[in-house]
Amino acid sequence: MKLVGLDIGGTKIEAKVLDSDGQELFVHRVATPKNYPDFLDCVVDLITYVESKVGNFARIGCGLPGAVSPVTGLMQNANSTFLIGQDVVGDLKQRLGKDVRIANDANCFALSEAVDGAGAGSEIVFGVILGTGCGGGVVINQQVLTGANAISGEWGHNPLPGFELEKDGETGPCYCGRSHCIEQYLSGTGFAQQYNRKYGKDLKAQQIIELAQQGDSQAKAAFDLYVDQLARSLAAVTNILDPHTIVFGGGFSNVDSLYPDVSEVIGKYIFAAEPRVQIRKAKYGDSSGVRGAAWLVRKQNSKL
Ligand SMILES: [Zn+2]
Repeated sequence: MKLVGLDIGGTKIEAKVLDSDGQELFVHRVATPKNYPDFLDCVVDLITYVESKVGNFARIGCGLPGAVSPVTGLMQNANSTFLIGQDVVGDLKQRLGKDVRIANDANCFALSEAVDGAGAGSEIVFGVILGTGCGGGVVINQQVLTGANAISGEWGHNPLPGFELEKDGETGPCYCGRSHCIEQYLSGTGFAQQYNRKYGKDLKAQQIIELAQQGDSQAKAAFDLYVDQLARSLAAVTNILDPHTIVFGGGFSNVDSLYPDVSEVIGKYIFAAEPRVQIRKAKYGDSSGVRGAAWLVRKQNSKL
């Protein structure tokens, strides 16, 4: 059986076809249009093109930043703003004459890693994106957990657990309207802002990490604090969800020392004598979004 997934990003739309073993059979990318009618035309053309190459599909899976409101059925929080307030699923179903399943990109990431990535074989997987933002998705028995508000796994706007002003530092207001959000410390942007505020510098996250690896004491202290904040934040999730595997994606997932460091520190904060949670790097990296979108249309995911 062949599965097709679309990853709808701010600048490009990628279509990928997988076989049922996860082998990639075909991939094609186009630029993301700037308005909604062009977007619908573009997806129809893209699917027509893919089908001309690999055969027809009854269902397509779509991953995109944002979520479908469980109340209205309309798109909310999308970073391609022309999608907000639109019935994307309904319109695509009508235009394509196919079943369309949609999930946000963090959920697609988590599903991809749970099905045949770093969390394969684990019953409960928490997929975490530590990048420009701080997204997350929960997958249980290879099914995305959506939730009553379609926000399951969105840990980035919880307050930082164990927050102490002196230790963790001030953040200023978050765009969500709160302050001291996890994302304000653990995203790449947040990490750099905290460091720059504390030491009067103007560096990017990647530069600070490189300094820490070279032994710079301020950068190393900032990274150690980051590890502690990440461990606290993941422990709070673990005490509720108790995932077997936590998978990291995004820019910070490439920092290899994060895995042993967080695995060591997290034990202090988890309510279990011998925590068994595995913390792993994403297997598919940037491809996980589109792979997860394709996995959405498996028969096993018929409830999505
Ligand atoms: Zn926030």
